Amino acid sequence: MEWFSLLEHIVFTVIVAGLVGIWLNEGWHGIARSTVVFLKTLPGIQQLIGVAVKSEVDSFVKSLREEGKTPKEKAKKRKPMVTLPKKGIPSDELRKEMAVAKRCEQDSHSGKIFAMVYTMEDDNFELQEEVFDMFSDKTILNDVDHDTLLKEFHHAFMHENALNPMFYPSLRRFETEVVSMGAAMLHGDENATGSLTSGGTESILMAIKTYRDRARKLHPGIKDPEMVAPITIHPAFEKAAHYFNVKMVHVPVGKDCKPDMAKYEKAITANTILLLGSAPHYCHGVVDPIEEISDLALKRGLPVHVDACFGGFMLPWVEKLGYPVPKFDFRVPGVMSLSADIHKYGYGAKGASIVVYRNPEIRKYQIFAYAGWPGGLFGSPSMAGTRPGGHIAASWAALKHLGEDGYMEKAKMLMATTEKLKNGIKKIPGLCILGDPVMTCFAVGASDSSVDMLAVADAMEDKGWKMERQQFPTSIHCSILPQHVGVEDQLISDFKEAAAKVKSGEVKSKPGASAMYGMLANIPDKALVNDVIVEFFSEIYRN
Ligand SMILES: *Cc1c(COP(=O)(O)O)cnc(C)c1O
Repeated sequence: MEWFSLLEHIVFTVIVAGLVGIWLNEGWHGIARSTVVFLKTLPGIQQLIGVAVKSEVDSFVKSLREEGKTPKEKAKKRKPMVTLPKKGIPSDELRKEMAVAKRCEQDSHSGKIFAMVYTMEDDNFELQEEVFDMFSDKTILNDVDHDTLLKEFHHAFMHENALNPMFYPSLRRFETEVVSMGAAMLHGDENATGSLTSGGTESILMAIKTYRDRARKLHPGIKDPEMVAPITIHPAFEKAAHYFNVKMVHVPVGKDCKPDMAKYEKAITANTILLLGSAPHYCHGVVDPIEEISDLALKRGLPVHVDACFGGFMLPWVEKLGYPVPKFDFRVPGVMSLSADIHKYGYGAKGASIVVYRNPEIRKYQIFAYAGWPGGLFGSPSMAGTRPGGHIAASWAALKHLGEDGYMEKAKMLMATTEKLKNGIKKIPGLCILGDPVMTCFAVGASDSSVDMLAVADAMEDKGWKMERQQFPTSIHCSILPQHVGVEDQLISDFKEAAAKVKSGEVKSKPGASAMYGMLANIPDKALVNDVIVEFFSEIYRN
């Protein structure tokens, strides 16, 4: 016992000396390096180094966090989890807070900073004056609307860069608070942690990268990793599969738009590293059976990621309003992470989403580090290098401004409109609602084969509506937003007229989007269809 702790002590000292040697990059660099490399091969040493590194980093971060704090504040333990305010905070209060936050940031016009921002001599300056005058503590401000508030926050932080978490402490606070508010909303506890990304796709890419790297570490025997998902999962997962070399295994869905769970289980192999589900999926607004997927995951020792990009900022309120919502978040034990878009039902500015993990151990696999660059030690939590401050600040403003009561009020209004629309459309001969959509979205399909939904879409577009065409089966997607409140009757009556005209043969699908969809649907070789899509994008993005 004695002997072991002595040995531990010596080893620890050598490691610390080695680390210091590396840090100082001095003469015995080489010796220190090889000592560390050798020691790392001894059993137990890896953990010991881990402990030493963690304690070093912890005290460094603590000192950063405490910059500018009073001794009393410093004495406080870790802050409690930041949650959405119960009542939305008025915009004038948030604007004052923004002025304070802005004052904490480095002013690029001081000429004292040499990285991160690329402003011109007169950029930002006018704004700073404006911000400080307008939002100074003495001024009485008028409450502005949500959109104006977001623009002000976006504008005020438009040049700030979240690339380096030490450079702009207010941005770091905005980001960690946004993630924390989102995590709490999804029933994560104080261990839940994550990142603010540029959108749902980036959140999803990061989750897949995380689980791929986690599997590499924990299951090095798996050479060809796979993940399982219903066919209705968002194409961003397909993109992630493609970028990160993880094979996507699809499970078909039935008439209810949900996966067949027997087939889901069969799709799991020894190479599976991750199970997936959506809450809800975009196509039909149906929530996958996350609890059943979680049961499978727990049985097989696998993690589950839930794509709540669409529903993350809506389902919690729909559930609180008393509508039936299947459990999909951290309350389900197998769920290890979720993605949720702020730039959808979070009502933030475009370019914002969160990816949240159950604990920091999983999130570590997301972080990229590179210590070999002559430009300095490099670390980055997500895909982007430079991370624009505008949408981070605007996200924070959106969540604080709406608060729980604001989100509830919007959800209540949108659910009423959605229910009215679904009930109206269900009564139209020839049309139906696909599956059992849970929240503020649905897909209109044909209830009998004489109704060509592509022709219905064309007839609706003749009336000025813009229709979202879907396939397998052909349908029209509708996401409901505040601007749809009040148009319900018109929409239902136009659908009724369109369906009747298509049913009677008076209207057929026309050249254009519908014809293209119709033509491509008849090509059995999907690789060929992919070629057509690539050709289309190549052509349309040319001047
Ligand atoms: C929108 C959406 C995504 C992708 O998000 P982007 O912000 O468009 O990148 C992923 N999953 C679902 C269910 C979505 O609705």
